[in-house]
Amino acid sequence: MTRHVLVTGANRGIGRSIAAAFVDAGYTVSSIHRSGDLPEGVHSALADITDTDAVNAAFDALEAEHGRVEILVANAGITKDGLLMRMSDEDFETVLDVNLAGTFRCVRRATNSMLRQRFGRIILVGSVVGLMGNPGQVNYSASKSALVGMARSITREVGSRGITANVIAPGFITTDMTDELPEDVKKQYEATIPAKRFGAADEVAAAAVYLASDAAGYVSGAVLPVDGGLGMGH
Ligand code: NDP
Repeated sequence: MTRHVLVTGANRGIGRSIAAAFVDAGYTVSSIHRSGDLPEGVHSALADITDTDAVNAAFDALEAEHGRVEILVANAGITKDGLLMRMSDEDFETVLDVNLAGTFRCVRRATNSMLRQRFGRIILVGSVVGLMGNPGQVNYSASKSALVGMARSITREVGSRGITANVIAPGFITTDMTDELPEDVKKQYEATIPAKRFGAADEVAAAAVYLASDAAGYVSGAVLPVDGGLGMGH
């Protein structure tokens, strides 16, 4: 039987490319998503990752049909940008609840299955901004840097059971999230990226397929940048 990978938020953006890449690589692919449609061949369970019961029920339903989840790609995430002095409690808490606590809810449930399988690959989608910081993104960068601590603690907790946990740190990738940026801001970012361009979602997907592979079994607690060189040294 092929390995079962679950990608959160595979209805658009980076998650959609990741799920499609796993389908192409021959995996059984599922997604927990809260809206939209999924790439061909990806099994669906609707849930908002801020809801623990909904996340657990979605895992239960997908596993009943397709077997235990062995690979989790925790991709779903949001931004609510604003300068620190004007950032509301709500904008801070909402971003943390989706990006950090939402990831935690999925990781906790997935690890239950991985321990039984004595195999697991936990891949958290962080951000270059988590380690470099970015004005206007105190909430977002805090949520993403926390994923590094999460992956490393998971590695120390269950690394002896065939489970790895890593963070992919994308730089600026062309999706709805970055389409929101004003043109002049995009140009400024491009100028500071050594590759002089935004990345493509497929380039992040390739890193996820690598980290999920048997070949990556000795890579754990790592942060893998996919950022055109933007974050070097961070
Ligand atoms: P998009 O905004 O294009 O997609 C975000 C995805 O997350 C959507 O599928 C969205 O679902 C889902 N999502 C958001 N909130 C929830 C929730 N509460 N429950 C379930 N699903 C949810 O973003 P990207 O594809 O650009 O980003 C994907 C990941 O990559 C994020 O974690 C982001 O932080 C990270 N990233 C992106 C970068 C970029 O430059 N684009 C750079 C670095 C990191 P819905 O369609 O229903 O809203």
